[in-house]
Amino acid sequence: MPSPDSTSLDRLLDLSRQLGREERKLAILGEGNTSARQDAASFWVKASGANLGGLSSAGLTACRFNDLLALLDRSKMTDFEVDEALLAARLDRTAKKPSVEAIFHAYLLTLPEVNFVGHTHPVAVNTLLCTAMGRTLARRRIFPDEVVCCGAESVYVPYSDPGLKLAQRIRAETQAYIRRLARPPRLILLENHGLIALGSSPESVLASTLMAVKAAEILSGALATGARPRFLTAAQVLRIAGRPDEHYRQKALGL
Ligand SMILES: [Zn+2]
Repeated sequence: MPSPDSTSLDRLLDLSRQLGREERKLAILGEGNTSARQDAASFWVKASGANLGGLSSAGLTACRFNDLLALLDRSKMTDFEVDEALLAARLDRTAKKPSVEAIFHAYLLTLPEVNFVGHTHPVAVNTLLCTAMGRTLARRRIFPDEVVCCGAESVYVPYSDPGLKLAQRIRAETQAYIRRLARPPRLILLENHGLIALGSSPESVLASTLMAVKAAEILSGALATGARPRFLTAAQVLRIAGRPDEHYRQKALGL
């Protein structure tokens, strides 16, 4: 068993339970998953099928970054091969199998300043991600605190098969976002699937998730009035989000 970084492990467990609170309608049963960087070479991720709301350390598996990052460049793998690779990436051979979404967690945790990742399937956000409004929810902002907590824009990922294909598409769309906006995303929206919040702390992951839910509820409510929703202008969003960070772009893209 690797010696766990108890601080980041405890903070990850607390974040998982916060995201799994039933009344928040972010994830039920085995839905959703969370992760945290353990050290430069490994990270903790929720085991396949574990329940976020009642997560204990037995429901987390430590994995090597390099083993999973290598999969992102593979063009074709069978489900069996992916399963074998997930099992082989564990630091402890007796630990449970990591979630198949561990592959995108590995990639996102390599971005500068990202230490925690939370992926959920919120009812309010999925209500819009299952309509043609999904892309608008990612691209536009409707109130100032949404910009503060969710960033000037979210990454939008068209529907992909969960697992390796989804992880590859997330990497491609996130790299395109960083090239265009020169800053890290706080939020990634997955068409017909859910959201991913990423940040330096569990608090920022939780804040982005809850604010994304609020924004989705407001946009759904605005659409239900029958009037055209009024979005913030690009200048208003930029005023709150501040200037792009060139340094970040270089670091994130390895330039
Ligand atoms: Zn999912």
